[in-house]
Amino acid sequence: MYNPPDYFLVDELLSDEHKIIRSAVRDWVDRSVKPIIDEYAQKHAYPTHLIKEMGEIGAFGPFIPEKYGGAGLDQMSYGLIMTELERGDSAIRSTASVQTSLVMYPIYAFGNEEQRIKYLPKLATGEWVGAYGLTEPNHGSDPGSMLTHFEDKGDHYLLNGSKIWITNSPIADVAMVWAKDEEGIVKGIVVEKGMEGFTAPEIHNKWSLRASYTGELIFDNVKVPRENLLPNIKGLKGPLMCLNSARYGIAWGVIGAAIDCYDTALQYALERKQFGKPIASFQLQQKKLAEMLTEITKAQLLAWRVGVLRNENRATPYQISMAKRNNVEMALKVARESRQILGAMGISGDFPIMRHMMNLESVITYEGTHDIHLLITGQDITGISAFE
Ligand SMILES: Cc1cc2nc3c(=O)[nH]c(=O)nc-3n(C[C@H](O)[C@H](O)[C@H](O)COP(=O)(O)OP(=O)(O)OC[C@H]3O[C@@H](n4cnc5c(N)ncnc54)[C@H](O)[C@@H]3O)c2cc1C
Repeated sequence: MYNPPDYFLVDELLSDEHKIIRSAVRDWVDRSVKPIIDEYAQKHAYPTHLIKEMGEIGAFGPFIPEKYGGAGLDQMSYGLIMTELERGDSAIRSTASVQTSLVMYPIYAFGNEEQRIKYLPKLATGEWVGAYGLTEPNHGSDPGSMLTHFEDKGDHYLLNGSKIWITNSPIADVAMVWAKDEEGIVKGIVVEKGMEGFTAPEIHNKWSLRASYTGELIFDNVKVPRENLLPNIKGLKGPLMCLNSARYGIAWGVIGAAIDCYDTALQYALERKQFGKPIASFQLQQKKLAEMLTEITKAQLLAWRVGVLRNENRATPYQISMAKRNNVEMALKVARESRQILGAMGISGDFPIMRHMMNLESVITYEGTHDIHLLITGQDITGISAFE
């Protein structure tokens, strides 16, 4: 049984149920993701056969009530699942994040009963894949300026516009799209694959998240039935609440990527000999390993605390921003240091480090960039927004 670093015994703060859930996902990642993921990343393809399996292990909608196909678990469980998935690959965790926080959560929180019953159970099993459309070609950090819009045509809405950099868009059955109504108010509308005028081309040539499909969502006079509009939300608050949930999951997820890099580097440093000794015996390599473990430990404690607050419904978006920003940067630095410890071997696909490192270059940008999260903290401290 694999035991990841837990220097401050954070495990003692978890319940037995948390550990059982984590161990089931950990086993699945070791069995189904780790052996194949490098091959998929190398060929820039998504292991779509894993989607149904992710549904089976409860990775989709863990905190959504069982009545709608979710697992009815707490926020800590959601975080622990994300860590294990991202130990496999950020692409796998991204699919679970999008499906859970960006598609199932808004339908559950802002949708009506018919919408919940129609979409959530199929999304929970992985029978349907979801995508989340907020970013546009000319509006990334500033989604409030979005141009995608819909008009009320009586029995349907007519949707026009486009979204870019959308995780899973080429394989999505449903897209949770944020668009403006005729009064310029942002609303959530569910667009389904096959609707006339809706296309979702793939973006090729990525050097990051290569084991994930990313694409566009293009709406050319798409007639969307009235019943696909989420009735219980208006304004930018809707998409931002979804992002809050996803960012929380990322703060946990990236710890998995960092741990995978650290474990690999430690093992390598103990085995690799130069100048007649293991490189782990040199002070500079020990410094790297010690600092990595220190930063991973701090990130674990931060994630655990934000999990407690979120379970109590007390975590602020500002706290979640800080946790996402800190932990992603931590993971990226750990990946870079680990790569150096492996020397030339660090760039090889025989080890997971370079793959994690390149993935984390997306994770540090999506769901709010590193800079924007810093400015969100600055805004909370000073009461002054420096970004709008
Ligand atoms: C692999 C991948 C998957 C993604 N998946 C999704 C998805 O599923 N759904 C979705 O909607 N989006 C998705 N995104 C998009 C992502 O959320 C955006 O890329 C992100 O919000 C940043 O937007 P942008 O790329 O347009 O950068 P910009 O907003 O143009 O920012 C460029 C740079 O300027 C900085 N900047 C911007 N404004 C300010 C300011 N006011 N002050 C200081 N600095 C500023 C930013 O920090 C950044 O460094 C994904 C992106 C990637 C790479």
